[in-house]
Amino acid sequence: MSHSAQVRPPADVFGRPLRSLRVSVTDRCNLRCRYCMPEEEYVWLPREELLTFEEITAVVALFTELGVEDVRLTGGEPLLRKDLPLLVQMLARNPRIKDLALTTNGVLLAEQARALREAGLHRVTISLDTLRPERFKALTRRDAHAQVLRGIEAARAAGFRRIKIDTVILRGTNEDELAGILEFGKQVSAEVRFIEYMDVGGATQWSMDKVFTRAEVLDHVSRRYGRVEPVYEDSSAPAERFLLPDGTVFGIIASTTTPFCRRCDRSRLTADGMWYLCLYAQQGHDLRKMLRGGAAKEEIRSTIVSVWQGRSDRGAEDRKALGARGTLVPIEQLRKDPHLEMHTRGG
Ligand code: SAM
Ligand code: SF4
Ligand code: SF4
Repeated sequence: MSHSAQVRPPADVFGRPLRSLRVSVTDRCNLRCRYCMPEEEYVWLPREELLTFEEITAVVALFTELGVEDVRLTGGEPLLRKDLPLLVQMLARNPRIKDLALTTNGVLLAEQARALREAGLHRVTISLDTLRPERFKALTRRDAHAQVLRGIEAARAAGFRRIKIDTVILRGTNEDELAGILEFGKQVSAEVRFIEYMDVGGATQWSMDKVFTRAEVLDHVSRRYGRVEPVYEDSSAPAERFLLPDGTVFGIIASTTTPFCRRCDRSRLTADGMWYLCLYAQQGHDLRKMLRGGAAKEEIRSTIVSVWQGRSDRGAEDRKALGARGTLVPIEQLRKDPHLEMHTRGG
């Protein structure tokens, strides 16, 4: 295979290509967002089981040789992983990666933005749910709002473009901030994406009545700004994009009321090398074991291909089809297997 040759990725049962990989580099986090990590205590992955940077780079290379082009680093909070810019540098040497991105809560971004940019990171997405410091503290249980704002500024100053801001909207918490956050996005030249609250593992406080829906977002935004036009594009990106009369573009990720499983080309690797085909999947595939057991590259690649070819996951659509429902995973089960947590497999 020559480096420049375009590789046709394997397709799953529904013809969805394996195009994008989210790599969680740590399960630890410096925030405790109520929709993600609401508990007092967590069971962490054993440190010796975390993939080294060499191992992550090697696994990512196997995926890109099969056609993956988009790689997103996530967590937990990825900036807590020591020397993350070094990993970025190692991945940035892989010419098959067309889009190398990072999702962060921004708390440590001011310190690291420049090094990440210099290491070759293409893009950052910063999660920010509120512009009010007190509300931030209540929602994340940490007093770090100012640090996040500094992080966003530092990302711009470091030269990042196409910055995104991801905002989970919860009824009764921050639905009064839609316009404020859109205006903030304009100010810092970032595209805002509103995310529906999902009943993923870890979201033990989830209930349908707290989901502020795509329809409600559109209704509120159009009442404030006037006509909201859909932006048509042929993409597997989870966000639907919309245009406001003043030219602002924003996105909605409506995984709860309008799931996009039909076009989902992404899978997830946990920090300890478990590979999950869906955010909702209960079982993963242990790539660390293969790697550390000395399996040949070809063997791991063909395992990835055959697993992907058997993929029929449509987690969010299946959840929606249930109608009335409670939380996805009972707390006792989460305590037994941290892999079921959103903060372990990355959002
Ligand atoms: N810690 C980093 C951050 O917050 O950006 C990266 C990992 S976090 C799990 C990735 C994304 O998942 C964040 O944007 C977060 O808001 C989102 N998320 C976590 N739990 C969620 C839930 N129950 N519903 C919707 N989005 C969720
Ligand atoms: Fe919040 Fe991200 Fe940490 Fe979850 S992993 S608690 S979303 S900062
Ligand atoms: Fe993809 Fe699963 Fe999310 Fe559906 S629920 S979009 S299949 S990760």
